[in-house]
Amino acid sequence: MKRLDGKTAIITGSARGIGKAFAEAYIREGARVVIADIDLDKAKQTASALGGDAIAVHCDVTSQNSIDAAVKATIEAFDQIDILINNAAIFTAAPIVEIDREDYARVFDINVSGTLFMMQAVARHMIERGKGGKIINMASQAGRRGEPLVAVYCATKAAVISLTQSAGQNLIQHGINVNAIAPGVVDGEHWEGVDAFFAKYENKAIGQKKKEVSESVPFGRMGVAEDLTGMAIFLASPEAEYIVAQTYNVDGGQWMS
Ligand code: NAD
Repeated sequence: MKRLDGKTAIITGSARGIGKAFAEAYIREGARVVIADIDLDKAKQTASALGGDAIAVHCDVTSQNSIDAAVKATIEAFDQIDILINNAAIFTAAPIVEIDREDYARVFDINVSGTLFMMQAVARHMIERGKGGKIINMASQAGRRGEPLVAVYCATKAAVISLTQSAGQNLIQHGINVNAIAPGVVDGEHWEGVDAFFAKYENKAIGQKKKEVSESVPFGRMGVAEDLTGMAIFLASPEAEYIVAQTYNVDGGQWMS
């Protein structure tokens, strides 16, 4: 018996990166998985590599129509949703005096509104179905404390931690557990963009920021997506039934440093 046998999970932003690793891990644990991403071509590639228990759906978490269509497509394909991972997010960085209002609004729309309204759409289905469910939000160590060049991203992740606390307390009456994972720094394709920000604002050579950050992790290296999959499986499993509204650091000890 695998730990997620018979369960259906929808994972936003899972065409690549951490979300993709979650999808792979959930498939290994017996779940059926919906790769819900704004990049449909990449989502299709990811789903087809995972085999028959995965499908790709287009989902832009900033659009209510797109969220509703993705939830509907999931239920049409698999009859039910047991697990949502709110993983889609984007990064941004700038000194306070250079923060652009449109960029701020876009990042909040994806990272915060996207998380809230995906939770809402999936929770409505879970409540109607009456069998509870598990919702996992992707926070970040960046949501625990501000950083000089990362005000907007940090604020969005603090908001995700707060939404997790409120939604967790509100939805547990329906048997829906809402919790969050707060990774530290995780390697992946997104680092190209992160490095570019720090090259621009801290005059660092490309790759230098990544090296410095890696060396600061007490575990001795930067995280990889697979470091997070154990927590994502646990929070979706029956063993996590009594865990409500929590955010767990999975960060190689970085939060303590
Ligand atoms: P990533 O940039 O590699 O992947 C993000 C995915 O989200 C992409 O597939 C992208 O197409 C998709 N996406 C972007 N906008 C979207 C939208 N509007 N609607 C739907 N999908 C959209 O990101 P990642 O590094 O794998 O991060 C995954 C999650 O983990 C994010 O919530 C991120 O904030 C969080 N996190 C990452 C790190 C890290 O160091 N990588 C650290 C802490 C937290």
